[in-house]
Amino acid sequence: MTAWHRRRAGRFAGRAALLASVLALIWGAIWLQLAQERIATERDVRQETGNLTLAFEENIIRSIAAIDQVILIVRDAYARDPAQFNLRGWARDRAFINDQTFQIALVDSSGMLLQSNLEQAAERVDVSDREHFRVQADASRDALFISRPVLGRVSNRYSVQFTRRIIGPDGEFLGVVVASLDPFYLGRFYESLRIGHGFVMLVGLDGYVRASRPAIEHMDLPLAASPLLELAERDAQGSYRIDAGEVTGQASFVSYRRLTEYPLIVAVGFGVDEVFAAYRLHRFQYVVAGIGMTALVLCIGVLLDSHRRRLAKYQEELTATLENMSQGIVMVDPDRRVAVINRRVGELLGLPPRLLQENTTLDDILRWQVEHGEFASPGAGPDSVQDLVARGGLDASVPVYERTRPNGIVLEIRTALLPNGGAVRTYTDITGRKRNEQDLAAARDAAESGARARSQFLAVMSHEIRTPLNGIIGAAGLLMDRRFDAEEFHYVQIIRQSGDHLLQLVNDILDFSRLDASCVELDEVPFDVRATIAGAVDMLTTAAQQKGLDLALTIADDVPPRVVGDPGRLRQILLNLTGNAVKFTERGAVRIDVSAAGDAPHRVRLTVAIGDTGIGIPAEALPHLFDEFSQVDGSISRRFGGSGLGLAISRRLVERMGGSVSVQSVVGEGSTFRFDILLKEAPMEVSESGEEATVANPPLSRLRILLAEDNGTNRLVASRMIERMGHRVDAVADGTEAVQAVRSIPYDVVLMDLMMPEMDGLTATKLIRAEPGPVGRTPIIGLTANAEQGREAACRDAGMNAFVSKPAPFEQLAAAIQAVAAAGGQPVAAACARPLLDARVLGLLAEDIGQDGALDVVRLFLTEVPRMIDRLEQALVARGSALLREVHTLASASRSVGLLRLGHEAAEIEEALADGDAAADRSGSLPDLMQASVRRLAEWEAAQEEVASGVT
Ligand code: ADP
Repeated sequence: MTAWHRRRAGRFAGRAALLASVLALIWGAIWLQLAQERIATERDVRQETGNLTLAFEENIIRSIAAIDQVILIVRDAYARDPAQFNLRGWARDRAFINDQTFQIALVDSSGMLLQSNLEQAAERVDVSDREHFRVQADASRDALFISRPVLGRVSNRYSVQFTRRIIGPDGEFLGVVVASLDPFYLGRFYESLRIGHGFVMLVGLDGYVRASRPAIEHMDLPLAASPLLELAERDAQGSYRIDAGEVTGQASFVSYRRLTEYPLIVAVGFGVDEVFAAYRLHRFQYVVAGIGMTALVLCIGVLLDSHRRRLAKYQEELTATLENMSQGIVMVDPDRRVAVINRRVGELLGLPPRLLQENTTLDDILRWQVEHGEFASPGAGPDSVQDLVARGGLDASVPVYERTRPNGIVLEIRTALLPNGGAVRTYTDITGRKRNEQDLAAARDAAESGARARSQFLAVMSHEIRTPLNGIIGAAGLLMDRRFDAEEFHYVQIIRQSGDHLLQLVNDILDFSRLDASCVELDEVPFDVRATIAGAVDMLTTAAQQKGLDLALTIADDVPPRVVGDPGRLRQILLNLTGNAVKFTERGAVRIDVSAAGDAPHRVRLTVAIGDTGIGIPAEALPHLFDEFSQVDGSISRRFGGSGLGLAISRRLVERMGGSVSVQSVVGEGSTFRFDILLKEAPMEVSESGEEATVANPPLSRLRILLAEDNGTNRLVASRMIERMGHRVDAVADGTEAVQAVRSIPYDVVLMDLMMPEMDGLTATKLIRAEPGPVGRTPIIGLTANAEQGREAACRDAGMNAFVSKPAPFEQLAAAIQAVAAAGGQPVAAACARPLLDARVLGLLAEDIGQDGALDVVRLFLTEVPRMIDRLEQALVARGSALLREVHTLASASRSVGLLRLGHEAAEIEEALADGDAAADRSGSLPDLMQASVRRLAEWEAAQEEVASGVT
């Protein structure tokens, strides 16, 4: 039996005792009340009957006195003249004597009836044998005698005789005066008394009843089984209770009085039933009320008991739950006494059983733990148990913490303060979870390093594959320049195309793996979004035309001209999706619709829809379309080619740009791919895209050009541009590949990106320059990104012949290629690689001083130009410091309005003049360059005015 069960049994006994006491109290009160009422009733009845006996006594004494008086008068009258006395006559005058109940008679000394107030009997009546005669005949003194009731021989009725002796003058006995009374006479007084079913009784000390109400039948028999005579002999008055009352035969309360003058007792009895009628009614009522209250108390008891049982059941369930839960739980009172503690706490904390009992305190537990080295840290010695209690005991400011036990088990300990000041603390074994977390972290690290390893592997592999592949492509290209018959040419062409395809695949895989490993940083540069989109679509025009497809681009007016973002990646997405549309459409059209909507402040959401009337995509293929290596079916991919990576790369790019991509397609009708990206708004600048179409210097000849560029899109764009210039291009993705390619194939020009993985452009250039023979003299043009501007000196030092900044406009790139090719490996002026007008400079100016301000500056410059030319021509003649000053002014003034080629040329001439380098003085060419530049600026100004006046 557990302590809890013992407590429970004890509580049950206590409750039963309480219930019994309540019931005892109720019934005790009822009993007491009834007992008092019973005593009071008995007392009242004794008093009442006592009073009645008193009245009865007085009345009977008066009655007997009256009868005696009559007897004395008759005796006197008779004694005076016995011969003459006529009793009937005498009695006739006295009404009471005529009463039938009263007879008076004279008896002579021999006992013969002499006279009576009643009708004389026919024969003589002898009463000498009667007691009432005999007593008087034998008496020695004159006294009234009252006889027992005697059954009348004539009347056959009971009567009581009152007699006195008649004494002669000489004292001799003359006879007896007899007054004979119906017992009714004595009792009639009580007719008027209200005694209900009670009785009154006049009884002689001889035990014979003289009169009673109600009348008794056998008055000639003495009282039987009555304590009355005995009691009356002892006490002159009193009362008693008798089960069978003397007159009524019912249980009665009786009061009596013994008469002093006569040997008589008067008694009055009340029926017990009657006396206790009210008491019984009350007793009934009380008992009913008592039963009611008992039932109520029992009901309450039963209810309380069932409530208690329910509580006990809950408690049992709770105890079972607590005992079987995997967490340890301790609840402490505000005084830190343990109110609840489960077995699991003992297991988790290794506590001895005595500390799992009630009445343990949190301090006991903590002390035990400290003593057993639970808290190994120095600050937690036995002295600081109180601190520990204060900190960890009921301190909810650290609601959750973890602790590793000396045995290695890791516990999570939670403490919650209760509103009453107590607290609940739980202990959870999180060893497994911790181990899992560590395992998971290790697995994650392993996976991450796996992913890194995979990316590295892919990069290395693609590099390793690309290097020989570039050799194959380049060599195939070389072969194609040779004279072959048609079949041979076809085979070489297959080698070249397969090589290109394989290179594209390798590049896609590299791109995808970089995106997948989130290694790709997006650019944040201002660019002309319309031009970028138009340029990308333009690159597919030829392919579309070859298939007889319409390629239609619509750019909504709300698309801003300039935004900030990554133009290369946007171009890549467009090329992928539009390229697919062209690829998978045999007839009809491909439409590209571009629109924009303001998103957040200074943000633009660009939406592009590319719709085609191609083969469509089955519904079941749509859900996985954007997964990597997903192709709708193998036969189609064989027919159309492709790696199955384009959409996966596009989706990742779109998502990196804060957008999403979706597709709708019906097989046989066509598909529409939609994507949106978030771009930043940029201050307005004028696009240079127009230059591409207007400037197209014819190539010196068809050149073989190597493009080294790691970014796939830039590579594609630049390759297409070079092809449009009429040259042949091979592309590699890093410096090592470039060096390899240059060593194996004689290129006319190398376009070298500066920033590349593996080996950067400067290192590669130096390596090429170190090569012996013509390889070492291969003309190299550096491609510098915006961020790398200002690195011209580094380019020259590395041995580059020229450089252009990315993204290089078509004209600029073409000019640079022509210049370095024509110079035949000699360094060319960087100026040739610079645009006549860089509108971005004017855009920046407009940002600073407003579009109108920028236009004013340009106009001022244009009005100044004739004077500047005059001064320059004079200075060219005068030379010396005048020329230096003019060239200096020209350098800064022209650069400030975006005439970069003129500005740089002037600056270099200024530098040469200052150095006294006459050979490098190209000052004579300045007026022509100035004229050309000014024309370009004037065109720009006119275009701006048209835009401003709304003419398009
Ligand atoms: P792939 O290099 O094979 O074109 P993508 O990821 O670009 O790889 O496309 C995956 C597949 O999606 C394609 O092989 C093709 O089956 C399907 N697909 C993509 N675009 C279209 C389109 N416009 N019309 C029909 N099918 C398309």
